[in-house]
Amino acid sequence: MKPRSISIASGKGGTGKTTITANLGVALGALGKKVTILDGDLAMANLAIVMGIHHVKTSFLDVLAGKVDVSSAICENYGIKVVPTGFRFEDVHETLAKFKREKVEKAVKELLAESDFLLIDAPAGIQDATIVSMAAAREMLPVCNPSHTSLVDVYKLIRYGNLLGAWTRGLVVNRVGKKAEIPTSEIEQFMGRTLGNIPVLAEIPEDSKVQEAELEGIPVVVYEPDCKASVAINELAKFVAGEADLPYAPQEARDLNETTRRIIQALTGRRA
Ligand code: ADP
Ligand code: MG
Repeated sequence: MKPRSISIASGKGGTGKTTITANLGVALGALGKKVTILDGDLAMANLAIVMGIHHVKTSFLDVLAGKVDVSSAICENYGIKVVPTGFRFEDVHETLAKFKREKVEKAVKELLAESDFLLIDAPAGIQDATIVSMAAAREMLPVCNPSHTSLVDVYKLIRYGNLLGAWTRGLVVNRVGKKAEIPTSEIEQFMGRTLGNIPVLAEIPEDSKVQEAELEGIPVVVYEPDCKASVAINELAKFVAGEADLPYAPQEARDLNETTRRIIQALTGRRA
């Protein structure tokens, strides 16, 4: 199998990118895959915390600064490799100021040579140097929440990913099951109408165990393997690894629902 690089991306912060990167990584590892996860959120790094790594001696910032090889920045926990990014404001500031995309691409290539899957925890949005970690991956896995604003963001993100050559197979809807939200069928219809066939690969339920696990510094799939969120993430891992069929049949959009109609109009200025 060819190694796969996937950036876990979203339009805005807080959709669950870091949570999905860590837990999908650990779940793929448990399926016997060689997995590396990289904190590509250079400015707002926190993947190490979710992975229970509290002492980061060498980080991806040192790699980007040219101080060390990426191999010296690899930590291991919960059966997978983790390349953390440092938190020190001065380091972040300095690295972003002298940022070179070739350095990210070189590191990604080296990490891929040792992995079946490289998951990159991407920064939110589509700005400047920060999007390079997204561009360095061949595939993008967008994470959105079931809200109008999140959908509009993810639409832009997928279009941007296409421009960068990061292919989107489908998306993850996270924090599903709160009171007011858009149903998956409408999300798929909106995607089908605007971007082509982009199915929802997983619906991850809102689950307080995710936050409990985060406080403990243990990925939720390890902390509480049977909770709703862990079950959904493990299913997603099987699909990503190619061991399960697509969970939802993509829908052909015929009668436009109100959500799709409104968002298309907002994005294009035309009535759908
Ligand atoms: P991002 O990396 O996109 O900014 P995070 O993964 O850090 O988002 O998630 C933001 C917050 O939401 C975290 O505190 C996380 O524990 C919480 N969270 C993420 N997914 C879920 C979920 N399915 N259920 C409950 N809380 C969640
Ligand atoms: Mg994050």
